[in-house]
Amino acid sequence: MTDIAAIARQKPVQAALASFTSQLDEIIDLIIQVQQIPAPTFAEGQRAHFVAQQFATAGLVDVQEDDLHNVYGRFPGTNSHLPPVILSAHTDTVFPQETDLTIRQENGSIYGPGIGDNSTGVAGLITLAKSLWAHGLHPAADLWFVANVGEEGMGDLRGMRAVVQRFGSNGRYIVVEGGIFGFVCHQAIGVRRFRLDFQAPGGHSWGSFGRTSAIHVMSHLIAAIDQIKVPESPRTTYNVGVVQGGQSINSIAQSASLWLDLRSEDVIALQALETQVRQLAADLQVRFPEAAVTFTLVGDRPAGSIPRDALLVTWAEAALRQVGREKIEYFAGSTDTNIPLSQGIPGVCVGLARSANVHRLDEYLDPSDLPAGLGQLLLLTLAASGM
Ligand SMILES: [Zn+2]
Repeated sequence: MTDIAAIARQKPVQAALASFTSQLDEIIDLIIQVQQIPAPTFAEGQRAHFVAQQFATAGLVDVQEDDLHNVYGRFPGTNSHLPPVILSAHTDTVFPQETDLTIRQENGSIYGPGIGDNSTGVAGLITLAKSLWAHGLHPAADLWFVANVGEEGMGDLRGMRAVVQRFGSNGRYIVVEGGIFGFVCHQAIGVRRFRLDFQAPGGHSWGSFGRTSAIHVMSHLIAAIDQIKVPESPRTTYNVGVVQGGQSINSIAQSASLWLDLRSEDVIALQALETQVRQLAADLQVRFPEAAVTFTLVGDRPAGSIPRDALLVTWAEAALRQVGREKIEYFAGSTDTNIPLSQGIPGVCVGLARSANVHRLDEYLDPSDLPAGLGQLLLLTLAASGM
């Protein structure tokens, strides 16, 4: 088994690890450069173009941007017969194009929308590529660096779906998130998202009183969903995140809609939850025959996992310890790792630094752990590539 400590003892590796501290200011500059380019989900092109230039400058070969604006670049390994290691970070953010991306620095932290999630992850990949060349490190397997689109919101992991389709089951996936240093994710929760549309005859609030209202029927369903007892283990959740509908205060609503997010650590439990919701909707239609409810699937992130003692997970953990991190936390999440894990392909998601207020305008990055986070990523990459 690959020994992380032995890799870390090698002189060039030590030099690379040290460079993450000595070059911290430049690395932070790069993070900010990435962050300054708007990249809402479905409009990642401008940021992708910048990353492609950076990949080429960092010495990666076969740099290419696909139709979705996924950016690929290869660091050639010494043994072309080995399955590749795919290192990915998502380029998209939850912030609309017009968001003010101005940053401010305070108490050593950097505030700015998207600074941790995931400008730090993207800049981390570029930094890793540069340091492999700079320190003459030679992984055995090819490393594919990928800056992918579509991780957030309604992106539904479309970028990563294309990446996994490209490389197939052949390979190991290391997904990099900027803000979760100390965490290792090897368990992908399943997510099913729906838009539910309610139709009803409606009418005048006074003159047609008693006719079925789409909003009232929808409210019955929300109240019923709220009564569902979900298991604590496997952790299973529901949320109605958005509601819309109605025409005016004095109209009985003809239409309404809600956005529903269902999640579980377990495929079967997720299916059971969805079945319950569909049954509640069917019951309502019996009760309100004039109403109609339709389900549209708008997001489907499949569940999957590899065991805690899988090689990738043990390397990620050993690499964290090697860079001085005592406390290691495992989490089940919805990340790009869902796609390989759900297909039985090994994958793990790791972080680079600490960030907070993620998905908010006052998001900030505390870069103090960043050298250790990059160190973990380097050691994990070298172990996974069979150095
Ligand atoms: Zn993210």
